[in-house]
Amino acid sequence: MKISIPREIKNNEFRVAITPAGVRDLVTAGHHVTIETGAGLGSGITDADYQQEGAHIVASAEECWGHADMVVKVKEPIAEEYRHFREGLTLFAYLHLAAEPELTQALMDAGVTAIAYETVQLPGGGLPLLAPMSEVAGRLAAIVGAHTLLRPQGGSGQLVPGVPGTHPAHVVILGGGVAGTNAMAVAVGLGARVTVLDTNIARLREIDALYAGRVTTLASNSLEIERAVTDADLVIGSVLIPGAKAPKLVSLDLVSKMKPGSVLVDIAVDQGGCFEGSKPTTHDDPTFAVHNSVYYCVANMPGAAPATSTSALTNATMPYVRSLANKGWKDALKTDASLAAGLSTHAGALTNQFVGTALGITA
Ligand code: NAD
Repeated sequence: MKISIPREIKNNEFRVAITPAGVRDLVTAGHHVTIETGAGLGSGITDADYQQEGAHIVASAEECWGHADMVVKVKEPIAEEYRHFREGLTLFAYLHLAAEPELTQALMDAGVTAIAYETVQLPGGGLPLLAPMSEVAGRLAAIVGAHTLLRPQGGSGQLVPGVPGTHPAHVVILGGGVAGTNAMAVAVGLGARVTVLDTNIARLREIDALYAGRVTTLASNSLEIERAVTDADLVIGSVLIPGAKAPKLVSLDLVSKMKPGSVLVDIAVDQGGCFEGSKPTTHDDPTFAVHNSVYYCVANMPGAAPATSTSALTNATMPYVRSLANKGWKDALKTDASLAAGLSTHAGALTNQFVGTALGITA
């Protein structure tokens, strides 16, 4: 199969959809891999790194998309990429179509077979192509939270681990899922006192089994949240209710009772945020003050760590890319219900009913 990887052109996107290891895999299996020049540079991968593994480098997006049976990307195509759409093309990428009516229409009009990373779903409900980004965001949350606590960043001046004879920071994590447990692991590693709250008691049991003595687990309810948050130096919000906006677990009134210079990192800001007053920010200007606290609300946290994010994402996507390349999209989806859940558009029709409901289109 002819597989192409274009350079990502969305603002501030430095990831790329394949690594040299992925190229080697596909080329060894007899596929033809084309990469747009410079596609890997944002993640520290040169054209030569790809060429060494057998990729063909092309100078333009036209050549890259034009060569392909299947295009593998990171982000959803932006308007200036729609011109590359055509019948017979398979597209595998994050698509977020429920929020992208124009992209959805363009894919349908052109008859593209589009498979969305974010809706590929394992039998237990896990989202294997979103999990790596939650891992990156969770680990980063503890690091940026610790940094923001420093005085020059507007924080209280509490060093997270403290030093002998002083208190470490109290880090409170709301939501012990993929992002939350990764934030927890780094906070523990930094020497913080850590509390995790979740409504899922089975999840808290797992955390307790691994971290008993190092992490306090609490059932998440309004009283426990209030007690934990008013004692916290750093609060990390990492809740998710699938298919819904994040619940507002921390009110402005509660923030007003927090320690001066405390920090709140809202990982869930991409789902509306779990703190009242959260609004999406960027890596250029990531924080703002609310009462006497500092909010960090970057909506694309993994964008700050493209080298790690590219490797983590492609580790997760490559088994599906291999299957699509080796079997063709039809047989790949027929033999893998998880991948089939990703099919979003085909032959002019919308095939994902949740996107259909969101956009008012029959799927
Ligand atoms: P997840 O499903 O693995 O975990 C969510 C957890 O929240 C679950 O354990 C669930 O039981 C818990 N929860 C639900 N309601 C709760 C409540 N009222 N109190 C306490 N816990 C509650 O999800 P995840 O993959 O860890 O993602 C978490 C959030 O991070 C999502 O909103 C996701 O979109 C977001 N995210 C943001 C970025 C970013 O760059 N900002 C990157 C990746 C993921």
